[in-house]
Amino acid sequence: MTVYFIGAGPGDPDLITVKGAKLVESCPVVLYTGSLVPKAVIERAHPDALVLNSAGMDLNEMTQVYVDAFEKGHDVARVQTGDLSIYSSLAEQTRRLKALGIDWKVVPGVSSFQAAAAALSQELTLPEECQTIILSRASGRTPVPEKENLKSLAAHEATLCLFLSATLIRKVVRELEDVYPSTWPVAVVEKASHPEQRIIRGTLADIAEKMHQAQIRSTAMIIVSKVFAIDDFADSKLYDPSFSHACRKATVIEGEPEAGSLQTDQEHHDERG
Ligand code: SAH
Repeated sequence: MTVYFIGAGPGDPDLITVKGAKLVESCPVVLYTGSLVPKAVIERAHPDALVLNSAGMDLNEMTQVYVDAFEKGHDVARVQTGDLSIYSSLAEQTRRLKALGIDWKVVPGVSSFQAAAAALSQELTLPEECQTIILSRASGRTPVPEKENLKSLAAHEATLCLFLSATLIRKVVRELEDVYPSTWPVAVVEKASHPEQRIIRGTLADIAEKMHQAQIRSTAMIIVSKVFAIDDFADSKLYDPSFSHACRKATVIEGEPEAGSLQTDQEHHDERG
């Protein structure tokens, strides 16, 4: 018996993985996060499956669902929003399972920050301009360790994706304005990949007011990044005609006899396959 923790994706029922969907279809017990997992994903469950909504359950009650299924030898599809590696309470659930000697596996999902980037049609890294993405949240009722405070994260000028922060937008802006000019770009995607998806673009100066006007308070991804304002970035090395790598020989040889270094070729091969 195994508990499968399955990332259901950001909302569009077609954005669950094939592997996740097959498990929802085959597991005799399906436990799903009611508020955010789309109905169409749950409707894949077998007609005889025990389908439970975890929305009203605490950790003890969820654990009891796993224990009951374990005693019957029934696999469980535990379906949660986005991907399980980010703000999913996976760690506390699997800690209980480990103590009980119950096996589990994790099936990845499309995270909402990826769906938001897709909605914006935006690469969040740009060659030589921005090569890092930070996934974080504003500190509110749930505290964030002081060493991860927004100002220190912002100092990197990396793309900043903020989960769970829509109601804290004014605080976010206040902290970021200590580091960035007020013209710094921000995009907000509410309900990315849902039919009712909304996009708001602005800057630190006006994003809080725009969100207030639009009444965006939850299920929103806030992306703060200079990439929204950069058009004249360099082409990447990967498709550069003068750059060889493991999968492709240079067709244009510039300057030195061999374009691209062996070490960099290897890096590209390793990272992008
Ligand atoms: N594990 C999830 C995140 C869960 S935390 C993931 O990988 O996406 C819940 C937060 O995720 C929300 O407050 C919101 O910031 C974000 N979120 C979830 N679904 C979203 C969606 N469809 N569009 C925009 N943001 C979303």
